[in-house]
Formats: sequence, structure tokens, C-alpha cells
Amino acid sequence: MADKLMVCKDCKAEFVFTESEQAFYKEKGFDNEPQRCPDCRRARKQQKSAGGGNRDNNRGGQRSQGGGQGRKW
Ligand SMILES: [Zn+2]
Repeated sequence: MADKLMVCKDCKAEFVFTESEQAFYKEKGFDNEPQRCPDCRRARKQQKSAGGGNRDNNRGGQRSQGGGQGRKW
């Protein structure tokens, strides 16, 4: 097994699906590979737990403002 380069469905960013993550997925019995980068996955999770509202819940998260890594909005 090797690390896999994936493209995020949401933001089209490339991310690495690492060997250990692949092993984790397999262990959990997940057949499909992740469709989204870790950022988008986290964002979606937070959205769910925040009940649809985001942007005003900054506790415990690191927000990257101003100096993103090659990300275009
Ligand atoms: Zn993404």
C-alpha cells in the first residue's frame, strides 16, 4: 500500500490519503475512499454539530485567516 493523492470534491484541493488512513478505513469496513480533504471534512462535521450555523463558533478551532495555504475563495 502507498499513500494516495486524492482531490477534494468540495474545494478541489489535493490531499493525501495516507497508508495509515487507508488501513483505518479498511479496519472500519469502509469501502469507499474519502471524497473530501480533511479541512472540508472538519468543516462539514462542525456544521452538523453547530446545527447549520458556522462562522461564530471559534472555540477550540484554529482559524486561518489571511494567510491560507494556496487556497482561493
Ligand atoms: Zn476540501
